[in-house]
Amino acid sequence: MRQSTLFTKTRREAPKDEVAKNAQLLIRAGYIHKEMAGVYDFLPLGLRTLNKIIGVIREEMNAIGGQEILMSSLQRKELWETTDRWDDSKIDNWFKVDLKHDSEPDGSRSKEVGLAFTHEEPITNMMEQFIPSYKDLPKYVYQFQTKFRNEKRAKSGIMRTREFIMKDMYSFSRDEEQFREFYEQCAKAYQKIFSRVGLGDKTFRTFASGGVFSKFSDEFQTVCDAGEDTIYIDRKKNIAVNKEVCTDEVLADLGLSRKDLEEAKAIEVGNIFPLSTRFSKTLLNRFKDEAGSEANPYMGSYGIGPARLMGTIVEVLSDDKGIVWPREVAPFPVHLVSIAHGNKDIEAEADHLYDSLKENGIEALYDDRDVRAGEKFADADLIGIPTHIVISEKTVAGGAFEVVDRATGTASMIPESSIIQHLKK
Ligand code: ATP
Ligand code: MG
Repeated sequence: MRQSTLFTKTRREAPKDEVAKNAQLLIRAGYIHKEMAGVYDFLPLGLRTLNKIIGVIREEMNAIGGQEILMSSLQRKELWETTDRWDDSKIDNWFKVDLKHDSEPDGSRSKEVGLAFTHEEPITNMMEQFIPSYKDLPKYVYQFQTKFRNEKRAKSGIMRTREFIMKDMYSFSRDEEQFREFYEQCAKAYQKIFSRVGLGDKTFRTFASGGVFSKFSDEFQTVCDAGEDTIYIDRKKNIAVNKEVCTDEVLADLGLSRKDLEEAKAIEVGNIFPLSTRFSKTLLNRFKDEAGSEANPYMGSYGIGPARLMGTIVEVLSDDKGIVWPREVAPFPVHLVSIAHGNKDIEAEADHLYDSLKENGIEALYDDRDVRAGEKFADADLIGIPTHIVISEKTVAGGAFEVVDRATGTASMIPESSIIQHLKK
């Protein structure tokens, strides 16, 4: 994409009311626009990155047998009443709205509907039609879907917003054993996802409270100063415990010793949760198991917030010049910076390279703007694409391109003839 056509511009200063580092950088670099506190719009560069992250998650969910769907944001009050999760005293972050007319002509249903903050109730109710027998199990269903949560606190930029896309997966298994097997498979898939987006060495599977259904749930916590949680990490065992549950009893249960634990601030980028039969027993028909006795499917839920993940990457990997994207999630893998100063030969050379990158399937952001070199370099550093290619009189005279690694600042001269091969590595 030619940068001269991009409608967003970088800005030197972040808006005064924006306190979170991730939002400050993403706004300055033109990735997002603030609509109101805790509500952001994704602009061309921001949407590209968000979609890259979604793509990584989708690949890993498909790899473990997930089937993708898309459910509605409008939800029926009646379903949530069955599980006692409609009342504001039970769930404090509901957004609720009224339909203009009753949803059924005879008025048998409420006018009031909820805006999805999660999907256990509607998905379990829907799956009833498709799981008449234990022979239909297991099934794993997921979506990238807009959730609404009336969060009290909205100071963490895109890491905590009032409207966000969640990847939520729900598993339906015959029994606890079959459920556990998938749960562990999903935990592995999560580690892969966090590694692929550049947070592997900073993200820990973390024991957290499990509510009433099981002893623990598992959070995936990324160590980050701006995180809202405190965790205790056992680096040797590569696991952590959330401060909220970190009692002597729990540590003994997990075979951990307080002296091996390191305290850190962290942000929950994902979580997996055993649900047992809490929802299936109210919202799904019982099926007969192999022995002919009545049973309910064992369920689990598995969430990741792609935008929270994007904000976390910015918090953790950026430097004093701006954002530093890992290649898998960068809006473009290559930023082509042309320093032509009106020299037509340099411009032609840069156009030529841009075309051959395209022909070779390498997407580039091409800074073809007529602005000072210093401004171009500063913008490229702020935007954070991992590889910069600089074309100037100097490089053309030497028959090579200057390739700069954004993360390390290392520059090397790569001959024109081998540039494509070099970038494909
Ligand atoms: P938190 O404790 O941070 O509020 P949660 O326990 O409410 O998180 P879940 O309901 O398990 O989160 O949601 C699954 C995932 O969705 C979280 O792990 C996180 O990545 C993401 N997420 C949750 N709330 C938000 C939010 N307000 N904005 C952006 N992403 C969110
Ligand atoms: Mg929450």
